[in-house]
Amino acid sequence: MELTANDLWSRVLEIAAAALSEQSFHTWLARTRAVALADDELVVEAPTAFHVEWIESKYRPLLAEAVRRVVGRDLTLQLRPGEGAPEPAVPTVEVTPPSRPTHDGLTAGSAPAAGDGGAGFEAHPSLNDRYVFERFVVGNNNQLAWAACKAVAESPARMYNPLFLYGGVGLGKTHLMHAIGNAIRAANPSARVAYVPTEQFTNELVTAIQQGTTAQFRQRYRRMDLLLLDDVHFLGNKERTQEEFFHTFNALYDAHKQIVLASDRPPKDIPGLEARLVSRFEWGLVADIKPPDYETRVAILRKKAAYDGLALDEDVIDFIARSCTSSVRELEGAVIKLLAYSSLTNQDITVGLARTSLQGMLGGRRLGGDEPVLSPERIREVVARRWRVRPDSLESKRRTKDLTVPRQVAMYLIKDLLDQPLVSIGAQFGGRDHSTVIHSIRKVEETMDEDPEFRREVEAVREELRRPQ
Ligand code: ADP
Ligand code: MG
Repeated sequence: MELTANDLWSRVLEIAAAALSEQSFHTWLARTRAVALADDELVVEAPTAFHVEWIESKYRPLLAEAVRRVVGRDLTLQLRPGEGAPEPAVPTVEVTPPSRPTHDGLTAGSAPAAGDGGAGFEAHPSLNDRYVFERFVVGNNNQLAWAACKAVAESPARMYNPLFLYGGVGLGKTHLMHAIGNAIRAANPSARVAYVPTEQFTNELVTAIQQGTTAQFRQRYRRMDLLLLDDVHFLGNKERTQEEFFHTFNALYDAHKQIVLASDRPPKDIPGLEARLVSRFEWGLVADIKPPDYETRVAILRKKAAYDGLALDEDVIDFIARSCTSSVRELEGAVIKLLAYSSLTNQDITVGLARTSLQGMLGGRRLGGDEPVLSPERIREVVARRWRVRPDSLESKRRTKDLTVPRQVAMYLIKDLLDQPLVSIGAQFGGRDHSTVIHSIRKVEETMDEDPEFRREVEAVREELRRPQ
């Protein structure tokens, strides 16, 4: 049966709608549309670059899962900003502020759209009402950044101005920025708050220059009480944007307005950033955020489960927290993927299901980048060490229990982590046939589900295999 891009995408959206809250779906996915399907690639447009980024970071695993479900195999999903599906016309200049549909029930940006309309600017992305301090878990990794953000939210432009947050992707910078905005807005509903990713700031400036509306552009930012400029590493080598932002910065600073900046690295490490901006970015407080440790990861998962009404057992939480170590976004992606997998396959959420659903996600990364390349030899070696047997004894024909168990575990991990064919796994263990390998893998899976102690042993091996040698 031939599916058109449109048909395919509307089925994918149905599945996604079932897996997401109505609000998230309407905010992020309702206005996407498929524009092409060729060579196993599905091209989908979303209304803005911000939507694309958001969908990429939050919903890619879910969408990929849904695509696989609809077509029975993987397609490359390419998201790009475009027209998106038709939306209600954005008003241009109007005398009374229009009651713009917000699609999603989120608070619309505080700047009335009418003021921006004439200059043809994009609306500022709304503050996300899930990104609040209450939902933010404080750990050793983010303590300073969190405390500074709280202080700024409580007394803007008094303690730290500007506040500069930096750290790797998915560690909570954007969340904290929105949290400041939300808190200030809650305390003072008429506060003018703008959250804007640097890329959008740049795009608007380019448009303003083309249309001869730079005066409005300036005016738009300089009247803010709080300016949250995200991803400022994108300022690097954009001279005109830096020039413009330099003046915006000075104007706001001199008027005692709060500025918060976020970046993936500290100011002085942003290539192509003018010295005068580097120095201004360091005037206030520069606070970093690091990846969360195990305890913080568990706390984040618990909080997420509580807020989203998810029933996640402690052992599932433990499994995800051990498996996803790089960022909070990765943790959340794992949960979304697990939920989607559970609802699509109609299975209860167990550690076994978590392992299956997260396999691709974890295996792929371990083999890529600067992580050590994992080999069957190394897996056999680490397993053998933990079970205190000689690695080559795993290849022998002997079937005593002290050898059978580590042998089965090694087979299981080679399949799970390297996804090698069963026949080739059998060959590495003294020429066992593929049905023996299947039996071994099943046995390990069953035992892990029944015996927590055994499961911990296997997970410890897995953990050790992730560490650099
Ligand atoms: P960044 O901007 O640093 O790339 P985000 O702020 O977008 O990261 O965070 C990624 C996801 O992780 C968001 O959904 C955010 O809510 C969540 N998150 C990050 N840090 C925390 C935390 N400490 N507690 C709870 N959720 C967090
Ligand atoms: Mg961010």
